[in-house]
Amino acid sequence: MQQQSTYKQLTLITPTAAMHASVHGGRAKCLQRLIRLEMPVPVTVALSFDAVQQIARGQSVDMDALMAPFGPQPLLSVRPSSQDPDWGGPSAILNIGMNDARHDAMCETMGEWAASAMYLRFVQAYAIHVARLDPDEFYLPDVPDRLSLKAMLDTYEAETDEQFPQDPAVQLTQVLRSMARAWDGTTARLLRQAKGAPQDAGLGLVVQAMALGVGQGECGSGVIQYVDSTTGVPQITGRYMSQSQGREALGAAEGAIYLTRDPRGPSLEDLCPDAFAELVALRDICRGYLREEMQVEFTIENGNLHILDAVRVQRSSRASVRIAVALAEDEMIPREEAVLRVEPAALSELLHRQIDPLAKRDLIVRGIAASPGAATGRIVLTANEAQASAARGEACVLVRRETTPEDIRGMHAAQAVLTMRGGVTSHAAVIGRGLGVPCVVGASDLSIDFKKRQVIAPNGRRFAAGDTITVDGTTGQILAGEPPMLEAALDDAFQTLLQWADEFRDIGVRANADTPADAQTARNFAAEGIGLCRTEHMFFEGERLRVMREMIFAEGGDDRRAVLDRLLPMQRADFRALFEIMQGRNVCVRLFDPPLHEFLPSDKAGLRDLAGQMDVPLHEATARVEALSEYNPMLGMRGVRLGIAIPEIYDMQARAIFEAIAAVIKSGTEITVEIMIPLVSAMREVELVKARVDGVANAVMAETRTEFEYRLGVMVETPRAALRAQDIAEHAAFLSFGTNDLTQMTYGLSRDDAGRFMSAYVQQGVYAEDPFHTLDIEGVGELIALGAERGRAGRKDVILSICGEHGGSRSAIAFCRTHGFDYVSCSPFRVPVARLTAAQLALQDRVVS
Ligand code: PEP
Ligand code: MG
Repeated sequence: MQQQSTYKQLTLITPTAAMHASVHGGRAKCLQRLIRLEMPVPVTVALSFDAVQQIARGQSVDMDALMAPFGPQPLLSVRPSSQDPDWGGPSAILNIGMNDARHDAMCETMGEWAASAMYLRFVQAYAIHVARLDPDEFYLPDVPDRLSLKAMLDTYEAETDEQFPQDPAVQLTQVLRSMARAWDGTTARLLRQAKGAPQDAGLGLVVQAMALGVGQGECGSGVIQYVDSTTGVPQITGRYMSQSQGREALGAAEGAIYLTRDPRGPSLEDLCPDAFAELVALRDICRGYLREEMQVEFTIENGNLHILDAVRVQRSSRASVRIAVALAEDEMIPREEAVLRVEPAALSELLHRQIDPLAKRDLIVRGIAASPGAATGRIVLTANEAQASAARGEACVLVRRETTPEDIRGMHAAQAVLTMRGGVTSHAAVIGRGLGVPCVVGASDLSIDFKKRQVIAPNGRRFAAGDTITVDGTTGQILAGEPPMLEAALDDAFQTLLQWADEFRDIGVRANADTPADAQTARNFAAEGIGLCRTEHMFFEGERLRVMREMIFAEGGDDRRAVLDRLLPMQRADFRALFEIMQGRNVCVRLFDPPLHEFLPSDKAGLRDLAGQMDVPLHEATARVEALSEYNPMLGMRGVRLGIAIPEIYDMQARAIFEAIAAVIKSGTEITVEIMIPLVSAMREVELVKARVDGVANAVMAETRTEFEYRLGVMVETPRAALRAQDIAEHAAFLSFGTNDLTQMTYGLSRDDAGRFMSAYVQQGVYAEDPFHTLDIEGVGELIALGAERGRAGRKDVILSICGEHGGSRSAIAFCRTHGFDYVSCSPFRVPVARLTAAQLALQDRVVS
């Protein structure tokens, strides 16, 4: 932040006044730029962050000095000016200075309706935002006249026991104070922090003379912008209220006329072609000098244009990408800046999946579409449950009557949010959009039975916690089950931006992909390869689960091998499909990892089923399952331990991989395969597995008469593997840090149970963040850095990466760049975000160095 002391608290904006966006805010700085461009901007005074903070604390500013530039009887507006306009701020308040005397005088000059409309608007804003009275008591009347004005002033007096303040200085003081305090409110703080604002983000205010838009010729006020806020496509939109074209209607469109020529009615272009042409010319000026697409607020007074304000055009995520790319393509900004301008999180909004329009919809209820995209998950009823579900890696939908700030972490953890109350500006809606989580609010026909933990549809249908539903945040529908989805449509601007990002980034981005569908998504998002293919996911489907269970129940190696021989062709087909999709890119296949009991049932019905499937008595099936159960399975017989105790499993997987490689090579596809051993904690484990895998490779090469290369590497996810990385790397071509297990084991914190107390821990500051969401750089990071260093000492050219859930996050990518990693691997949908983030980090480094 700039040194506050070099700037005055109150600054009359002139072309040369000392001003800075980090002291006065973006709006104030932008007004100065407009003034420098000799645009007709009314007198404006900027209040610095410092001044506004003092006002919030109850201290006053020098009102005489503040009001002096505006002359006697000023009519003023106050607007917020935060450092980044996206961080928001309190609503603008206009017509400050309106009072009874002024109203009487203005009735003479501009007519009773227009004068009353102005006073009514001010009283309304003052009552709601300054006196904090109930908005329902202060709606604007259809007929703005002396009578309706008196009614509103009387209501104000009845509610406050005070007359509406008449002194402009008092009015202004109160307005400034209420705006300053609103900035410190919890909601405002949370919202701006969700947009990346620092905790101590400041607010500036601008006080400006009102340009009334009143006179004999064409008069009125409006806003204009030159691109569509939703799509970013060039198009003039906005509104204009003409005072000359009959009496102005409050709030309604009656007094509104079109901006551009329109067969449906009069337009500003017809009424005032010169001013309109000036307005249109502003687009190029804004793009050329302000290097932005702006929304311009203006008034027209006797045909003359006044520019009151210009702010960055509000934009959807899609528009933000298109605008940045168009500015760079038109050489208004360099490509680097276009890449830096797009918030990576905004990309994930573009990536949201939608429900296939042809899919059958099992509609439960309709609500208000509050945040776009569709997502499926199991119903959870509290934020804690949502976090626990995320820690288990299970998709969930957070269902609440309404959300409060305490729910934010749960919303973050959920795939979608559904509330019974609220509208498009409710907490859930605003936060949902901010976080890019699909959200439907105000589904008031739905009810929750907390005792039975059920959600009840209007037709009496009940859905228990744990049942799967789908939230369509684009249409507002809530559906039962999981309808087929369509992947997001990614337009040219999106692709262009990411191509530019790839030119600037200096770390690889791969995807964690387990199925051909995941691999296809990874390719669509231009992942450089697969960084983690969790092969066990291939065994959960239909017939395979049954064969898997037979394998688990097999007596001895021969029997087991015989069953595994039946799994082999299925695995080979999986790998072949994966390799063909990834053509030429690296694919890192992780050998079997989970404990075997995950494939066995735990409840009575499941055990009966299993006994039937295996053709053994129930008691025998139960005894076998019990024999396999472990007190602490995540620290038990899993990963490489299984690979060593039951080597036939890895033998089969290695054979499936190599036979698939041989097959794709024969069909002319290039592929580089990496085989990764999970849960290693000792070098000897790697030696043993490597010897067997190499043996299988040689056998397959001989049998298929093909030559292929592959790499064998280790997943570093136990602290000991990180500590012993030097000798492990002697046998491993690559080390991939599995930050999920490494976090679990470094903290001694169960991934599956941490959700229970995580919010208490984070709330009380024990952990700054949930370490399963945000990589713990201080602890886990130190272990990774040490492992990387020791790994390099063991093998100079060892390939380093991370593949836990943290892989796509900004802090993890920054960490990996700092430590010279080769790539990060993350879920396919995070790949574009990671590509952009990596590019931004590289570009920011360039600026610093
Ligand atoms: C990890 O532990 O970080 C990892 C990627 O593997 P999994 O989540 O499958 O345990
Ligand atoms: Mg793991």
